[in-house]
Amino acid sequence: MIGRNGIGIGIGIGHNLDGLSMKILLTGGTGYIGSHIAVVFAQMGHSVVLYDNLSNSSASVAGQINAITDEKCVFVRGDIRDTAFLQSTLRSQQIEAVVHLAGLKAVGESVEKPIDYYANNVQGTISLLEAMEAERIKTLVFSSSATVYGQPQYLPIDENHPTSATNPYGRSKLHIEEMLSDVAASDGGWHIACLRYFNPAGAHETARLGERPAGKPNNLMPFIAQVATGERTVLSIFGDDYETPDGTGLRDYIHVMDLAEGHAMALQFLISNAGWHAFNLGTGQAYSVMEMIKSFEKASCQKVAFNVAPRRPGDVAACFANPDKAMLVLGWTASRTLDDMCSSTWHFYQSFDNAAGKAKG
Ligand code: NAD
Ligand code: UDP
Repeated sequence: MIGRNGIGIGIGIGHNLDGLSMKILLTGGTGYIGSHIAVVFAQMGHSVVLYDNLSNSSASVAGQINAITDEKCVFVRGDIRDTAFLQSTLRSQQIEAVVHLAGLKAVGESVEKPIDYYANNVQGTISLLEAMEAERIKTLVFSSSATVYGQPQYLPIDENHPTSATNPYGRSKLHIEEMLSDVAASDGGWHIACLRYFNPAGAHETARLGERPAGKPNNLMPFIAQVATGERTVLSIFGDDYETPDGTGLRDYIHVMDLAEGHAMALQFLISNAGWHAFNLGTGQAYSVMEMIKSFEKASCQKVAFNVAPRRPGDVAACFANPDKAMLVLGWTASRTLDDMCSSTWHFYQSFDNAAGKAKG
């Protein structure tokens, strides 16, 4: 593990999640990250509307969220590019703020289908902004990504690191961030936070929510989990000749519930702060692929078979956050451990009903 000194990583600082109850629309609300945010928001007393076209999730997730929270989250099936329907939903549900997660997210696919990515992510965001402006709703939290930093020029990465993009997915995030910055500059009524996620991982402690990619996983954690369950035979480590302590890639994995709480803190910050703001959501600690395998083996008591494959094109040796700004400005820091990420993922996979395509219960 590579860590930074002196910052309260892993300690937690007693997040103050109290605040005004709001009516919040989550685009992409039945997806992996959106579903965890919905739980956090509902448990804080917010009214939550999940707006999703189900292109990469299932309506059963809304049921799981409601089972966890005893709250009635409203699910609306819709596409963010359908501006008229989105606007009528904002109005009928009396929405006051939006967390915008909906979008396509597979880097490799974005290289093959760039038009889909710009249409869904960029055009979809324009549609959302039009609907919000028409309804005079000007508080927005956007799911951005550390991918907007491109090739790291120094580590750890802070928010002042230059931005660039190396693929259409990353470029769509960067275009959206820049668009949002222009919108905030044009009208002081907007309150916008771009949250740059590092590597989300883990699942809800009830094992009702988690990440279950439909096909072959692109990301490391679900791939490891599927080897541990026996659904896949072997994990390919993409390169063991990087200039890192064990030669494998270093990343900043962050528990999805810490990430979700970061959204609550960002929303609370936006209530009294107009303008455009960017925050890293990461832990500041980096783990190698090899360390991830070992940690998952310990949490699951299963062997994870692996072989070493060539480097994956576009990968960098190391990428991890300087999360100081989120701590100082939002009062947020990640508190859950890598073991929490691995064990919650394992429990989710064990309780997942493959035949039904959803968590049991
Ligand atoms: P996800 O695919 O599980 O969730 C996205 C949801 O958006 C899905 O439920 C999908 O059905 C929905 N959606 C897609 N296009 C839509 C449209 N046009 N209209 C309505 N709904 C639509 O992905 P996730 O991991 O939960 O990611 C959420 C957001 O966070 C994405 O914007 C992603 O780019 C961003 N992000 C994710 C990661 C990660 O590693 N998971 C890292 C950085 C940033
Ligand atoms: N990785 C790997 N095998 C896989 C998937 C990922 O070795 O099947 C490595 C990848 O090279 C990187 C790390 O795991 O070093 C995290 O990759 P992931 O795709 O999860 O996230 P990202 O590349 O977006 O940081």
